[in-house]
Formats: sequence, C-alpha cells, structure tokens
Amino acid sequence: MGSSSAISRRSFFGAAVALSVVSGARAQQPPHLLTKGIWPNGARAAVSLTYDDGLNSQLDYAIPELDRRELKATFFLTRYNIQWRLADWETVAKQGHEVANHTMTHPCALTGLNTARFEHGEIDRMEAFLDSNFGTDRQRTFAYPCGYLGVGHGDRRERFARYRRILERDGVVAARTTAGGPNRPEMAAADPLHLHAFEPTFEGDTMGPALRYLNETVAQGGWAILVFHDVLPKWHSEGDASVATHAKILAQVAALDVWCAPMGQVFDYVEGHWGKPA
Ligand SMILES: [Zn+2]
Repeated sequence: MGSSSAISRRSFFGAAVALSVVSGARAQQPPHLLTKGIWPNGARAAVSLTYDDGLNSQLDYAIPELDRRELKATFFLTRYNIQWRLADWETVAKQGHEVANHTMTHPCALTGLNTARFEHGEIDRMEAFLDSNFGTDRQRTFAYPCGYLGVGHGDRRERFARYRRILERDGVVAARTTAGGPNRPEMAAADPLHLHAFEPTFEGDTMGPALRYLNETVAQGGWAILVFHDVLPKWHSEGDASVATHAKILAQVAALDVWCAPMGQVFDYVEGHWGKPA
C-alpha cells in the first residue's frame, strides 16, 4: 500500500523533529501543545491533497511532483474529462492515489435540474463507471461540482438534504465542499457530507494563503483539505496553480508534522476515532 510509505516518512520526520526540539523551547508552550498529536503516529494534523475535474495537467505536472515526494492524493474525476487518457488515470489509481466521483459532466447550476435525472445521470452513472474501471474496492468520496450544495427546488436546507440523500443512496461516505476552515475531526465525523476545504491558489499564485491555512490546521490539530484544479507551468486564472507554487505547497506539507493521506483514508480514521459507536 502506498499510504503506509507516507505514514512512515511522516513518522520519521516527526521523530527527527522531536529529537531536535530542546525541552526549553517546549516549556514556553501552553500545556495542551506538549501532548502528542491525535493523528496517526502522533502527527499534529491531517492533510488531504485533492485535485478536481480529472485534468490533463494533473497527470502531466501534479502527479510527478506528488510521486517525487511520495505523497498520495485524491482525484475527483469527471467522466467527460478523463475519457481521453483513461489508461493514465488507471495507472494513477494503481499507484495508490484515490479516485472518486465528481459527476459525469460537471453540472454547476442544479436548482432547475430534475432530481431523478441528476441522481441517475450524474451520480449513479459516475459511480458505476468508476466501479467498472477502477474496481469496487475504493472509498466512496465525493466533491461537489462548483462547491454547489443543493439539488432541485426549495430553500437551501431542503436542497442540500436532497443532495445528501442522493449521495447516501450511492454509498458516498464523505463529501467535500470548496469553502470553510480546517475540519475539526469530531465535526467531520458528525457531518461527513459537508467537509470544509480550501483552494489555496484561487486568488492568485502565491504561498501565503496555503501557509496560513496549514498553520491554522496544525494549531487546531485539525484536518486540512486542499483543493487544486489545473497545475500549469504558468498561472492563468483563478483555480490554477503554477507548477512552482504547487511544488512549494507540497514541500511545506512534507515539512510539517502532519499525516498526509487521501480523503477517504483520513475519513476512515476520523470515523473510527470520533464516529458514533455502531
Ligand atoms: Zn469541479
């Protein structure tokens, strides 16, 4: 399993940090920071790197950088985008990255949609497509296209409840939005179809937002879910990350005392530790 290598690297790094930190420096910190982290191997936070839409630039630029750092990520695929390079995506999944549902055609305006047609045409069909090409032995996770949290008519609550029921019927255990701060594990366990996430290069191709978000997550002992779209030699528009900035963000993740794993894997851990007993 690829995931175990990420854990052991992290634990190695964690041990090195522990040895290098002298007790004097630690004594200045509030008592709760002296305790070991709550994540695997005592990591102080969890990080999931997620990539949306099944874009060619992710195959060409993001995955080589992930591989170089032995990090495993989650790719939320749309059938429409991946059809031309399906064999490459199958290789990605075999290497231990998570592939998951981001609908067939990525519809964003869901208010006017026929609910049954959306459920069968976009969600069921994509799950079936993933099953037949990537196997049924995968965590069923989901990313809301455009971060839009409602299907059909009614008020916000009604529309989101309808969306949740569709996902639950397809066995989706965890779903990610595109907004919000670090996830608190007990909240993630209680409301797994409403996981917060952060797109670090949405405003521009700089490191600041990613650093702030990751630092905040570590300070809280939470779970960061980073969202990327195109990873390109040069930043063009909102949603892109340049190859250079993407590499720096991954380097920062690797340097922190965090557990980096695909979303489904972190969710399994969250559910096991903070979920309701069966
Ligand atoms: Zn998308």
